[in-house]
Order: sequence, then structure tokens, then C-alpha cells
Amino acid sequence: LAGIFIALTHFPVYNKHGEVITSALTTIDLHDLARVAACYGAAGFFVVTPLEDQQRLAEKMIAHWRDGWGYRYNPHRSQAMGLIRLIRELDEAKREIAREYGAAPLMVGTSAVDNGNRLSFSELRKKIGDDRPVMLIFGTAWGLTSEAINECDHCLAPISGRTGYNHLSVRAAAGIIMDRLLGER
Ligand code: SAM
Repeated sequence: LAGIFIALTHFPVYNKHGEVITSALTTIDLHDLARVAACYGAAGFFVVTPLEDQQRLAEKMIAHWRDGWGYRYNPHRSQAMGLIRLIRELDEAKREIAREYGAAPLMVGTSAVDNGNRLSFSELRKKIGDDRPVMLIFGTAWGLTSEAINECDHCLAPISGRTGYNHLSVRAAAGIIMDRLLGER
């Protein structure tokens, strides 16, 4: 399997007023997405933030769970946290994966909003395991900007449940999407 990666992006994302911002890191997002990544066999979890202080915060937290007291307390969590890779911008992930796997990843954005030009879950399922790795990109705050989505190769169809409401937390969305793509059918 060439592999699937996930990325959590803190820039560029929208705030409530539709302005482009850098959001603050939320430690529970890192824990929960790392566990989802570990559970479904993702090859890596990229945390994207250009802010130095936020990177330092993430490094401290990861080190605590990966090698420090947290490791002795809960080695399972350490295994999941070991998948996290801190980067400043998504392009870094593209370059790193291309170097490691010999092919740049297929970049797939996610959003609760249907932008028309979307890839269905079954279409994406077929692409996983091709020679080209797949990178699933999640947003924070009010979601990835339209420019960020347009820069992706594809946008995945939004999760719709049973009502018109589909604004999920990134933690719930990542769990559902990874299960639809990689879970047992
Ligand atoms: N503050 C929020 C939180 O607590 O998670 C962050 C919301 S952020 C907009 C949620 C992210 O989860 C989106 O950028 C997208 O990546 C994903 N997401 C949420 N709802 C979704 C849906 N219905 N379909 C696909 N992805 C979704």
C-alpha cells in the first residue's frame, strides 16, 4: 500500500467572519486524529502550522506522550502520537512524501460544504493502494479556505448524515471519513 496520510491544517482557514486566519492548535485534535490515524493504518499525520509558538507547544506535548511520562503511563497513546509530523505548510508534506515514496501524494481536501467538483467515497477508496499516496486534508476553525481547497487535486464529497445538518467537529469527521475509506465493509 503506497499509503494514506492525514493532515490537520491551521492555516489558511476561515474564521467566523470569513476572514483568512491561522487558528490555534487544539491538543485534543492532535490526540484524537493521531489515534484515528493509528487505528486505520495511516502512514503519517501532518500537523500544519506556521506559528513557532504553536509548533513548540505541539513538540512539548508530543514529546511528553512519545518519550516522557506519558509513554510510561500509556504506551498505546505513544504509538499513535509517534505518527505526528510537524510542518509549516502543506507543501512540505508533499515534498517529504515525494522523497520517501517516489511520488507526490494525491491531495484531497475535506469540507462540510459541497463545492460541486467532488470525489465520491467509492472513487477515493479505489485510489487508495495505487502507486500514488493519498493525503486527506482537514481544516480547523471555520474550515479550509476555498483557495486551499482549489489547490488540492480533489475535494472529497461532504459527509451527510440523515438531516440537513452536517457541521461536524474535525475529530468526528476524521473518524467517519477514515472508516468509510478504510473500514471493513
Ligand atoms: N472548531 C471545530 C472543531 O471543534 O472541530 C473545527 C471545525 S473544522 C471546520 C471541521 C473540519 O472537519 C472541516 O474543515 C473538515 O475538514 C471536516 N468536516 C467537518 N464536517 C464535515 C463534513 N460534513 N464532511 C466532510 N468533512 C467535514
